[in-house]
Amino acid sequence: MLTIGCHLSSSKGYEAMGKDAVKIHANTLQFFTRNPRGGKAKAIEQKDVDRFLALSQEEGINRILAHAPYTLNAASADPGIREFAKNTMADDLVRMEYTPGNCYNFHPGSHVGQGVETGITYICEMLNAILEPKQQTTVLLETMAGKGSEIGGKFEELREILDRVELKDHMGVCLDTCHIWDGGYDVVNHLDEVLTEFDNIIGLDKLKAVHLNDSLNEMGSHKDRHARIGEGKIGLDALVRVINHPVLKNLPFYLETPNELDGYQQEIALLREHYQE
Ligand code: FE
Ligand code: FE
Ligand code: ZN
Repeated sequence: MLTIGCHLSSSKGYEAMGKDAVKIHANTLQFFTRNPRGGKAKAIEQKDVDRFLALSQEEGINRILAHAPYTLNAASADPGIREFAKNTMADDLVRMEYTPGNCYNFHPGSHVGQGVETGITYICEMLNAILEPKQQTTVLLETMAGKGSEIGGKFEELREILDRVELKDHMGVCLDTCHIWDGGYDVVNHLDEVLTEFDNIIGLDKLKAVHLNDSLNEMGSHKDRHARIGEGKIGLDALVRVINHPVLKNLPFYLETPNELDGYQQEIALLREHYQE
């Protein structure tokens, strides 16, 4: 069965988010752990989480994915900014244990001119400081478009981070179709080769989630502007090949397309229609 959902607002709590997922016939979902710009997270209410977990069980919602605020920069040259990223992610990982066994995705960061090596060193220092042996959450590095000084636009960079994290079992990768296309990986004409490259460099066993997005821009543009499914340069046919690819088809897919709930509902229905059981 296709596991597909989209990014949903978490501002009204877990149960409200679960109800939104049910409404649009999603069987998974992604959410921000707090305001995407950072800031303080709302206190978690155990009862709200319990109702969400019961609803999820009833409705078959699983493998939810949390997304870190996208303004965090663990690779910054500024120690204060790195400290903020570390404290925020450490707090998020404590919160994730309320819904154990899921994934937490983050943007590796931007090295802002210090160079990829220095940036990667800072990212790994942070991960080695906050990962806990007993945690039940897998932390995912997102593949990036390589915009500006973003780290993670090349599979090799993600591999290097994974190599330098001590608690390797707690780490994985989330593949964003818009980002890798913008990063120069041709998922339209050479999906097999791109996945073979991913396997050779990172290992497909590390791939835990897919962000399914079309892109407004051409391959290699390094722009990171998402488009609705079938309305961008990747196109519906290529995205249908992604959800049906033997090494991807059992992963959870999360839409991050520019949509309101009804638009997401339509995309989910469309993709289910094209999915081969
Ligand atoms: Fe992201
Ligand atoms: Fe993404
Ligand atoms: Zn993006």
